[in-house]
Amino acid sequence: MRARLLSLKAELQAALAGTQEQAGTVDLDQAAVGRLSRVDALQAQAMAQEQERRTQIRLEQVVNAVARLDNDAYGICVRCGDDISEGRLEARPEAPFCLACASG
Ligand SMILES: [Zn+2]
Repeated sequence: MRARLLSLKAELQAALAGTQEQAGTVDLDQAAVGRLSRVDALQAQAMAQEQERRTQIRLEQVVNAVARLDNDAYGICVRCGDDISEGRLEARPEAPFCLACASG
């Protein structure tokens, strides 16, 4: 599971580098594009920023999950202390909460 988390971390860091590039490129040719495509560009930028925010949150969760592995606290909900189900950890190895806490 550590190897999985570490490769997920590398993946998210690479994705983050990509979205940061995307989010930063919109203003460059504003003068050259018409109003509509500028709106498109701004929408794309907002989406890229939202994507970046989500990726950052997920990256934090992965880092925290690795820390919990080190502390023998991995797989235990940080809110209620119950075990997080294996199926959930399979889908989201970085999940900090059990399903009940995550949805409630
Ligand atoms: Zn819980």
